[in-house]
Amino acid sequence: MFKERNNMDEIVQIFKEKNLKLTLQRINIYSYLRSTCEHPSVDTIYKHIKQIIPSISLATVYKTLNTLVDAGLVRVLNVCEENFRYDSNINTHGHVKCTECNKVEDIILNDTLLNSLTAENYKINNFDLILYGKCKSCLSK
Ligand SMILES: [Zn+2]
Ligand SMILES: [Zn+2]
Repeated sequence: MFKERNNMDEIVQIFKEKNLKLTLQRINIYSYLRSTCEHPSVDTIYKHIKQIIPSISLATVYKTLNTLVDAGLVRVLNVCEENFRYDSNINTHGHVKCTECNKVEDIILNDTLLNSLTAENYKINNFDLILYGKCKSCLSK
């Protein structure tokens, strides 16, 4: 479940390009998000980061996430839960959420579908596509 794209030099480079100061919180949260495909919520991120930086507060996690979102490095997902989910994959893609186990996974969108998304009198520049269903392992229970 882990993506192999967590190179420290790369993160330093990305932060430099975005003019973001390198802080322990930013590096750890961003590197965690890059390492997971699970679209974690702020609570999950907080639990994980607390193991690395025990003194970190939930407010700091929120603040750090907002900074990363504002810099365009992280995307926020609203999957109809109390909390948002966070995704370090900012390339065009959609999501599917399992309504049983709450897992959120990526779906690849093809150009035909994207080009068919139009709204009269609007020039579309962004979208969020989230499908809901039951995943394979929940179906087989
Ligand atoms: Zn499931
Ligand atoms: Zn995603």
